[in-house]
Parts: sequence; structure tokens; C-alpha cells
Amino acid sequence: MEKAKITFYGGVGEVGRSAGLLEANGKSLLLDAGIKLGEKVEFPLIPEEKFGDIRNVFVSHAHLDHSGFLPHMYAKDFTPPKIFVTKPTRDLMGVLLADYLKIQKLREQKLYFGEDEVNEVMQHASLQEFGKAFRADFDVTLHNAGHILGSAMAQVEVGGKKLLYTGDISMRNTRIMEGAARGVHAENLVVESTYGGKDDILPSAKDSMKRFVDSINETLREGGFVLVPSFAVGRAQEILLALEDYMRSGALTKAPIYIDGMIGKAMRIYRQNVIYASESIKMRILTSDDDPFKSRFFHIPKTRGREDVFSEPAIIITTSGMLLGGPALIYLEKMHSDPKNKLIIIGYQAEGTLGRKLLSGDKKVKIGEREIELLMKVENIRISGHADRNELLQFIKGTKGLKRVFLVHGEKGGELREDLEKDFEVVVPKLLDEYEL
Ligand SMILES: [Zn+2]
Ligand SMILES: [Zn+2]
Repeated sequence: MEKAKITFYGGVGEVGRSAGLLEANGKSLLLDAGIKLGEKVEFPLIPEEKFGDIRNVFVSHAHLDHSGFLPHMYAKDFTPPKIFVTKPTRDLMGVLLADYLKIQKLREQKLYFGEDEVNEVMQHASLQEFGKAFRADFDVTLHNAGHILGSAMAQVEVGGKKLLYTGDISMRNTRIMEGAARGVHAENLVVESTYGGKDDILPSAKDSMKRFVDSINETLREGGFVLVPSFAVGRAQEILLALEDYMRSGALTKAPIYIDGMIGKAMRIYRQNVIYASESIKMRILTSDDDPFKSRFFHIPKTRGREDVFSEPAIIITTSGMLLGGPALIYLEKMHSDPKNKLIIIGYQAEGTLGRKLLSGDKKVKIGEREIELLMKVENIRISGHADRNELLQFIKGTKGLKRVFLVHGEKGGELREDLEKDFEVVVPKLLDEYEL
């Protein structure tokens, strides 16, 4: 019997820098290679001498907290690992890593990697399909994770048993994604727990979307503009297709929807990889002339200063999601002094970000060097790409043959413990913890 273990170098007790290393008799597979983006960038705590041992990496999806460490690994003096991903993950990673390089150039004193490393990551990606087993030192099969396009869970044969690594998961069927696969067989489960806290029960997607649409209608009817900051990949595409639907049906007041920042690029990659999306959206594209990804309601700003956007009331969906930078700040400057306008915050806002300050009611804030006084309305409507507490519990309990659960990727994983520990061994790992499998 092989001696197998998993070591958690990041992404435990936190959201960010996901990296868990599987090892058995000289074989190795790193589960995700992420960074943590906050006021400064944090990396997985992989010791320098360990890099030479990492032969393979599986990347669950394109978000930087799962993929951002890859170019760093390629910049090191070791034979770089092979990278196993789905095709949409590779394509979306191209957009996000290029953007990360830009942020790095702006913020860091020292450059850890350059364009060459990003290109190398893209070239070395080995593309894998859902449901078809492949070899990455271990036998691996991918299952749909339901989180963003291409997001995958990895079921790995290790130590004579199966281990399921979820990455980020969502159970809900959305316009673009079918919910995560259930009932996969695994003795060991490494599962995300972003919304594992006692209070993390999210309203249904339908209810949140209705509130969202009502709120936008209210502002458009008053003649105001709506600003929705969003991450580039995932929710932005879901929201855009939802707004398109509501507008076509007449439930949402007709107005131009402006797409700004990297959201447009990611949108094109979604369209190119639509074969990986839900059956319903594929059917719609196949059977009708109107392609929701190229809707007549969508517009791209034409001027650098975005003056053209403000000719008539409009909806603006733009990066960055936490108002850390990007075109969102240009819009905020233009919109903040008119009480008819509205800022709708839909995603998680980390401590210390402008988004968090506005959410907690601060009216005097700084954009760059300039202090502004916010007169526009601010609203918070959570539209999530993650399973909530109840969905996590259902997912975990539905896993076949399950013996042990590792709760990762979250600050409140521990709060799931008492609901699970009569049926399973529950582990909430700490950084650098090592477990035999
Ligand atoms: Zn994610
Ligand atoms: Zn994540």
C-alpha cells in the first residue's frame, strides 16, 4: 500500500492562496495554485526546496485565488510542473493572469514574473474533459463544480481510496451553469466553506434577482444611472444574461447596459466556450437567432472618459468588484454627487476596500488623492457564486462512501463541524498541517 498524504500550504482558515499538495511514493499533485489579493499579495507557504518535488498541478477554475501562483512557479529555477485544466479555465486564466501581471507592475516594487511566464503557463496547460479519467501521477476524473464556466472538482485515486477536491462550488442552476455534480464517491472530501457560517443562509437566486431588477427599475424611472461593480469572471456574465432576459421580457425598463473593464473579454470567452455551459443556454443559441451574449442591449463605452455613457439613464457593469481600481472608480467619480444615481454592491467586500467602506455607510471617501462626498444611493444585494451553508451540508452528506471531511477555503468552516461530526471525521486544517490519507 502506498503511503499518501496531503499538506495544506494555503487556502485554509481563509479565502485565498488555495494550495494543497498530494504526495505518495514520489508522486505529486498540487490541488490549485492560488494567491491572496488584499492590500498586499500573499502566496502559499510552499518551502523553496519543495518546488522541485511538485510534478503536477490541477487548477479547479480560473479565479486568481486558485490560479494566480502558476506564473510564480514558472519563474522559479525548477522543472515547472504540468498543469491540468479544462479548456474554459485555461482561456479565462489567460485574461486573469494578464490582468494580475498589470496589477503587479502597478503595485509591487519587484516583479516576480513577466509576460513570458504567463505565456508558458498557457502553453503548458494540458486540457482535460469532464468525466474522462486522465493520469497526473494519480488517476484523476473531473466533475462539474457549478461555480464559473469550466470550474471542476477533481476526484483523485490516492492511497487506495478516493479523494474529492471541490475547488469553489455552487449547487444552483443558473442561466449559464448547472449546479455541481452530487453523489460523487470519495472517502476523503476537501470542500470549500466560504459560506459555512451559522448565518450564511442566502436568499434564493430568484429572490435576489427580483430585488436587483426592482432596484434598477426604481433608479432608471427616476432618471438615474446604476453602477454595479463586479469581478470580471463569473457573476458578471450571469448578471448580464439575467438583465438581458428581464429587459427582453419587459420586466426591466429598457436602457443601455454598458459592459466595461475585463468583463467584455471574459464574456467573449464564455461565448466561445458555450459548449461547457448549461443545456438551456446552448439550446437557446442553437434554436433562435438572438444570441444573449451579443444582445442589442449591451454596449461598450467609446471614449476614455466614458462621457458617451451618460447621454441617457443606463446600467453599468464594470470591474473592479471591490472598487479597488478599474473603470468602476471613473464611474463613481462621475456619479457620486447625484442622489438619483445608485451603486449596487453584489459581491463580497474584503476588509479595507473602498467597497467595504461604502457598504458600512461611509459618505466621505477618497478616490486616489481626492476626497468625495457620496450623495448617490448605495444598496447591497448579495448575488453569490458559492454554495450557502445548507447547500454545503447537503452536498457533503450526499457524497458516497464519505469518511473524512476537510473544510477549507473559508473563515467559518468550523461552524459546520457540529452538523457533520456524528457522521464523519471533520477536519478544519491550519496552514502547513499534514494528514495521512
Ligand atoms: Zn472562485
Ligand atoms: Zn475561491
